[in-house]
Amino acid sequence: MQIQPPEAVLTILHRLWASGHAAYVVGGSIRDALLGRDPYDWDMATDARPDRLQELFPGAVYENRFGTVAVREDGERFEITTFRSDHLYADFRRPHRVEFGDRIELDLARRDFTVNAMAWGADAPAAADASAPKPDLLDPHGGLADLRARTLRAVGDPHTRFEEDALRMVRAVRLAATLDFEVETGTLTAIAAGAPLVAHLSGERLAIELDKLLGAERPSVGLRLLASTGILGVLSPELAAQRGIPQNKVDGDDLWDHTVRAVDAVPADRPVERLAALLHDIGKPATMADGHFLGHDAVGADLATAFMTRLRMPTAVAERVAHLVRHHMFAYDQSWGDAGVRRFIQRIGRDALEPLFILRAADNVGSGQPPNVHDLDELRRRVAEQLAGDVVLERGDLAIDGNDLIAQLGLTEGPLLGQILEQLLELAVTDPSINDGPTLLLLAQSMLTEDR
Ligand code: ATP
Ligand code: MG
Repeated sequence: MQIQPPEAVLTILHRLWASGHAAYVVGGSIRDALLGRDPYDWDMATDARPDRLQELFPGAVYENRFGTVAVREDGERFEITTFRSDHLYADFRRPHRVEFGDRIELDLARRDFTVNAMAWGADAPAAADASAPKPDLLDPHGGLADLRARTLRAVGDPHTRFEEDALRMVRAVRLAATLDFEVETGTLTAIAAGAPLVAHLSGERLAIELDKLLGAERPSVGLRLLASTGILGVLSPELAAQRGIPQNKVDGDDLWDHTVRAVDAVPADRPVERLAALLHDIGKPATMADGHFLGHDAVGADLATAFMTRLRMPTAVAERVAHLVRHHMFAYDQSWGDAGVRRFIQRIGRDALEPLFILRAADNVGSGQPPNVHDLDELRRRVAEQLAGDVVLERGDLAIDGNDLIAQLGLTEGPLLGQILEQLLELAVTDPSINDGPTLLLLAQSMLTEDR
């Protein structure tokens, strides 16, 4: 297991050593490098204070009060953080004040998990003119052994660490999923005990972790942990209530099993669809009656929106997900005419079609069925065929617009004009052959006479 940081990182470390400072690569980057994964970013830590870093690296930007400075090297951006020890945790959130430190050991001791508490680098050389130090791996908490055993273990006493910052529990679950690690028993017990503290965390911080969790190869690893530790009940009582609700499609599965299977079945590079899969049946517990879940799609869309709002997710994402939840129950059969397919396209909207098919395929897999059951692939093909053809789907596709109606029929702007355009659109969606100027004007004329 070799640590080989990119040239730019070595350049930064050498400049710090040559200036009489300790310098290390730390945290997730060492973990990922040792796992043979490409680290997402190479974070560094040093005893140099932020103002000193700005002196040593012209153009460096002091980013926040936690002592993180961003440096550019080889056109890339790197974060260097001054060694720190955390102080004064309040409300089970992150520290209110940090204290800068001089030793890497203290900095590693405040980190969350042993595999995240390793460093690679060296202290300042003894004499200013000494040759560059030889970097070493520092592993004071047994991170390497845990990494080899694929174990996630809190640094120090897990109860204390989770009371200091409740987000660490959510990070544990998220890292177990993204790294495919087991959570060590003592750490897991402390999570189950501390789960209620998750209620104190901000939506934003939770959303970041949920997002990363859903990007794992198999999010089910993390989702099941959320449920078994009790964190899920804090994040979403509605989702937690899916446990124990019968779901007669796969033997022995309950509704929550179905949900996590569906999430896993969405490709990892489709985050919106994965979130939609997580939330698609969120309305079922509330609507359950006589073995049915009438209206769970509409109720679910509202509950999903409330959940995403609580987590302060971007409105654009929340709207797309809620739309998918609302429409996930479409029932295609071969008797649909082409006009029926066009009305389906209209109802769903062009941009949501492929996401909805991806969600439905995952829903099918989550029910123990092949992805394309119920002619899903046929609907996909027929939709593509319509989209490729010369069809009318929205007002902009009509051969005339409001101005034509005003000019030709003497109409004025107002609700009536809108109603007529809407009716013309309906007719043209059903029968695209009427989509030429004269025919549409004639039809509009007759609508006006009927109205009188
Ligand atoms: P990712 O692969 O998502 O970047 P990461 O572990 O690197 O995972 P970051 O948020 O980048 O996560 O954090 C960098 C490092 O900072 C972590 O590896 C860990 O050492 C430390 N850290 C992050 N959050 C906490 C926390 N809440 N408590 C203690 N240490 C933390
Ligand atoms: Mg990181």
